Parts: sequence; C-alpha cells; structure tokens
Amino acid sequence: MDRVILIKYGELSTKKGNRNFFINTLYNNIKSKLSIYDVEIHKDRARMYIKFLENDFDAIKKVIDKTFGIHAYHIATIVDTNDEKIQDAVLKLALNEKFSTFKIDTKRSDKSFPIHSQEYNKVLAGLLFKNISHISVDVHNPDLLLKVEIRPKESFIYFNSYEGIGGYPVGTQPRGLLMLSGGIDSPVAGYLAMKRGMILDAVYFEAMPHTSIQARNKVIRLAEKLAEYSDSIRLHVVNFTPIQEEIYKNCREDYCITIMRRMMYRIMEGLSKKYRAYVIVNGESIGQVASQTLSSMAVINSVTNIPVIRPVACFDKLEIMKISRKIETYDISIIPYEDCCTVFVPRHPIINPSIDVALDEEKKFDYSPMIQDAIDTVQTIKITFDNDNQFSDLL
Ligand code: ATP
Ligand code: MG
Repeated sequence: MDRVILIKYGELSTKKGNRNFFINTLYNNIKSKLSIYDVEIHKDRARMYIKFLENDFDAIKKVIDKTFGIHAYHIATIVDTNDEKIQDAVLKLALNEKFSTFKIDTKRSDKSFPIHSQEYNKVLAGLLFKNISHISVDVHNPDLLLKVEIRPKESFIYFNSYEGIGGYPVGTQPRGLLMLSGGIDSPVAGYLAMKRGMILDAVYFEAMPHTSIQARNKVIRLAEKLAEYSDSIRLHVVNFTPIQEEIYKNCREDYCITIMRRMMYRIMEGLSKKYRAYVIVNGESIGQVASQTLSSMAVINSVTNIPVIRPVACFDKLEIMKISRKIETYDISIIPYEDCCTVFVPRHPIINPSIDVALDEEKKFDYSPMIQDAIDTVQTIKITFDNDNQFSDLL
C-alpha cells in the first residue's frame, strides 16, 4: 500500500490575506529541501501531500520535522477511490493495530462517490466487527480514530497524527543578520528567528590569530545545524583582529567590551545594508553578563537604528539550553574553543557604562576606516543543509 505525508496548514490558514503566499512559500521550501528525493508534492487550499518512495521515508520525515510552517501532519495510506480498495486498506491497517474501541470518521469531498459519509462509517465499522473480535465503537474517546477522506481520484486513510515544529515558513519574512558566535545562545536565537519566517544570514566575528581555525569550524558546524531549517545559510566571516587590537591598545580596560560590541554593531549595520537585511538578530540575554545589563545594552545599541531582535532576551540559561539540545547545537556549542570576546576579556568589565565615557574612549583611535575595511573584506561561506559545503578552500 502506498503512503503519503499529509500536511494540514494549521496556524497558517488563519492568515487570510497572506494565505496563498504562506502556502506557496511552504510548498517551495519543501520542494527545494526534498529536491534530492523522488517525490511528488501536491497542494490545495486545505492541505499538501507528498508522495514518496518507501525507502526514502525516514530521511524525508526528518526533513519534514525540521520545516517551519508545519503544525501537524499525518502518514496516510493512499488508494484509488473505489469502495473495494478502500475497504481492503481499512481492514489491513486496522488488523495491524492493537485497540479495543474505535471510531470511523469518513469525509467525502468526492460527492460522486455513491455512499454518504455517515452510511460509509457504518459499512466500514461493520467490516471491522466482522473481522476483529472484542472491539466496540466509542465516539468520544476511541483508542483508534480511523479517518477516511474520499477524494475524486485517490482517497486517504490514516489514524495517526504527528506534531510539526510549527512557526511560519522561512521566507515569509525578509532577511535578518544573525550574530553567530560559538556559544549556546546565538544558535538558539537564530532558530527562533527562523521560526518566525525570517531568512537568515549569519555573521561571525573572527580574531585570528588570537582565535583558531577550530573556533571557526565550530561556527560552521552550528550554521550547518541551522541550515537544516532553511535550505542554506550564508555565513559572513568578519576579520575583527585589527579593530580589537586597537581597542585594547587604546581604550580603558573596563570599557573594552562595551566598545568592542559597539564596533560589532556598527559593522552589523554596514553588513545589513550590504546584504539587504532588515534586522540584526543576536543571542543577548538580559543580565547574563556585564555587556547584557539593560544599561549596557542601551549604550551598545545606541550606535544603530536598525532593529535588534533578541529572541532569548528573557529566557533563563536553562531554557536556552533546553532548546539548544532539541535543535542539536548544544554538543557543538560546548566544545571549548576561544571566541573573540573571551580572548580579550577584561578583569572587571563595566556593568553600567556611560555613553559619554564610551564616546571619549572611541575618540582615541580612528575606527571608521577600519569598520569600512571589515565590511569590505568579509568572506562569505555558503552552508547548505545537506553538508555539501563549499568552504574547503577557506580553511
Ligand atoms: P552565546 O551568547 O552565543 O552563547 P556567548 O555567550 O559567548 O555566546 P556573548 O558574549 O553572550 O556570547 O555575546 C552575546 C551575543 O553577541 C551572542 O549571543 C552573539 O549573538 C553575539 N556575539 C558574541 N560574540 C560573537 C562573535 N564572535 N561573532 C558573532 N557574534 C557574536
Ligand atoms: Mg551569551
């Protein structure tokens, strides 16, 4: 018996004006993510279904489980719309299940099918009674709820329901730029931003030779994990070394982190224009470290007007870790490699910085050309979800 993955749109269908746009985006995302498989994808206003080769089932299910915009789906058996074939399939499926109570729920979208839904429920229930002993009907809370959808050419029969990851299809919002470090928080922030439908590019600030190639590889591996939720992600690697060295040569030690992060935001603003991104996304979480107190955030954020989205701002570290385990970035994030922030960390970073002091400290070196240079010399790595990455020449 052939099976299909049957996707119900769920939350998507409440987006009245945008409904077609959302459905088409989801369709295109699924099509592109499944392009290496031999599949047929059909969509209508209420549902989408995917015909696949049985051998590919596990791999395809994994892809569907990482596609935003899917709230629930079913694995349905598909048969020609023909009474005998439907009865055959219903019986085969039921014989494979353990249950003592059941309910049949027939929907008939093909009105030319000669038997009405209610009547057909009775026909199918009779079939089960005849062939399986010790079962009874329970319309309120059955062990087995068998759904039969009779459609013009082919009909679906299913009883299971799988939860999708929800959210909106990636691409229903424009591009955002994720500040991706090797830590735990920023990949989770990226995942949550994509869940809202954002297309993400990631930006990694590198400080070679103070940071290593292993640190970069770790970020690439994190980006690969995130790319499983979209189709691909571009990772822009910024050479942050000259700016960082100047900061530590010239500025008050306790303000170094504040100024370093203001420089990062300035570069992010330039990159947002370069790559046509609408927002910056990062893994800042209120109060986590000195640079993430509200007063620090205000001084740091004041260098740009571009909206900064902080998906984990109000999460506890434990809540963030829970998501990072779910999305399989945790084990990569905890590999101990130095980051550009950790290499230069001052003994006592300022907790409540003053904007005036920050501005005075920044007058001590000519940072504008360095910012421009960092933007101009960015290296871009395209990360695709099937791990077939084209970065070997950069390593
Ligand atoms: P994470 O927050 O990802 O666990 P972290 O705790 O080392 O890493 P923080 O010092 O908390 O990073 O920095 C806050 C945020 O700033 C990060 O979540 C990330 O979005 C951004 N960030 C920090 N360092 C870098 C970097 N080297 N490249 C890109 N973004 C960075
Ligand atoms: Mg952090």
